[in-house]
Amino acid sequence: MELRLQREELLRRQNFVGGKWVDARGRQRYPVTNPATGKVIAEAANSGRADARAATDAAHRAAGHWRERLPRERAEILRRWHALIVQNTEDLATLMSLEQGKPMTESRGEVAYGASYVAWFAEEATRIYGDLIPQQQRGKQMRAFKEPVGIVAAITPWNFPLAMIARKIAPALAAGCTVVGKPAEDTPLTALALAKLAEEAGVPPGVLNMLSASRERGIEAVGDWLADERVRKITFTGSTAVGKYLARESAGTLKKLSLELGGNAPFIVFEDADLDAAVAGLMAAKFRNGGQTCVCPNRIYVQAPVFERFAELLAARVSALKVAAATDPQAQIGPMINAKAVAKISRHVDDAVSKGASVLVGGTRLAAMGENYYAPTVLKHATNDMLVTCEETFGPVAPLYRFETDEEAIKLANDTPFGLAAYFYTRDMRRAERVARQLDAGVVGLNEGAVASEAAPFGGVKESGYGREGSRYGLDDYLQIKYVCQGNLD
Ligand code: NAP
Repeated sequence: MELRLQREELLRRQNFVGGKWVDARGRQRYPVTNPATGKVIAEAANSGRADARAATDAAHRAAGHWRERLPRERAEILRRWHALIVQNTEDLATLMSLEQGKPMTESRGEVAYGASYVAWFAEEATRIYGDLIPQQQRGKQMRAFKEPVGIVAAITPWNFPLAMIARKIAPALAAGCTVVGKPAEDTPLTALALAKLAEEAGVPPGVLNMLSASRERGIEAVGDWLADERVRKITFTGSTAVGKYLARESAGTLKKLSLELGGNAPFIVFEDADLDAAVAGLMAAKFRNGGQTCVCPNRIYVQAPVFERFAELLAARVSALKVAAATDPQAQIGPMINAKAVAKISRHVDDAVSKGASVLVGGTRLAAMGENYYAPTVLKHATNDMLVTCEETFGPVAPLYRFETDEEAIKLANDTPFGLAAYFYTRDMRRAERVARQLDAGVVGLNEGAVASEAAPFGGVKESGYGREGSRYGLDDYLQIKYVCQGNLD
């Protein structure tokens, strides 16, 4: 796949700071590569501490003016940004498929999905209400206002290069915050293109600032934001380990945090489930983005009477998946993001097999296609002592576990420090009510594998983090409450 954009100016190699496109200090750059081929797509700015500071300075200068804009003026700018994102779907999808590897159909879907958050928060911007508190004493009036928290640092992972950053920037701008952003090392180009479109939409200079960086330099840059008391909030999507690090390191300036962290989602198929629907739901939830999603079912629990039938149905669907580079219109699974990811998947599968799992489909690298490809895999007879049970595999591997009773399924499902998504299939509505309540997860799919929506509150419990993105709750993370008590009114 070649980098040919309809609008070449959407390929940005510089940072966006204070409304200008600028090199990183010392003109440092690093290569962004295509995971399908290992070839360099572009050299992006390699930002460090000084660049982060310049971005914060710009966000600080812009903050007063932006928070004073009328909500409907902010909404209008977000609506223009949304329209530009949609208009440039093909270029954004191309950039995303090139730097991340997901099939073009999925990239186009992600553009629409990310854009939907911008449209949503354009509307929510005009609905930030406060309260007039019922009077408690004569001559006194008490009010609660919602105000923007201030400068927001947005740090995002590589698996959804557009949606993750869009769903942070949109509520932040809607709330009246200014933003400094850093996408993942592997996938900065989509985020920089989004910043370019924000500029075209009329986001004022300094309101949105975007830096790219290699891993090492990125840690330095984020370190500056963590220590800077002007940055009042960190909104982060990524691994639990890094989320905990950010929580510790931002404690010195007591920043507000939203942490969308790792998952280890259970997917339970009860004996009374519609098995075809369950397989279809699992295919959608498990194999999207090659299994590199935080809401991916990682452990599939199937009740004993339907275990063999379910395994058969699933194996047939998984063997039919087309693995190919993003350019192939038939592609359903692309390459994994990098060699480290493939090594982890291999380690998980080898460990499971060595502990007694059998491979129904896949179970190998697809080295002939390139070093980052791994075959979609179904494992039977997975057990609790395997790595696939305890860690996010983050790849196209579906391990099947057999269970007998409902109590056992709930216990197994909740036996993890994580609590992002959980799924289950049943036709029994009493069981549905009970299980939905008993699962320790922020997001539950009941007879449904596709749970994401801009209108829904997305986020985890336990070590999957805190904060919610999307929905009418999504603005709360970017607002703080000011209570004004007015006296002597009599
Ligand atoms: P990651 O290693 O935690 O990285 C996420 C972001 O943090 C990247 O921008 C990364 O930069 C940066 N980063 C890494 N170490 C840092 C440090 N010490 N200081 C400051 N920044 C640092 O996660 P990932 O591997 O990119 O993404 C996969 C993880 O994200 C999985 O655990 C997945 O479940 C989770 N995820 C969660 C959600 C959700 O909504 N809950 C959604 C998607 C993904 P570099 O790229 O340069 O390392």
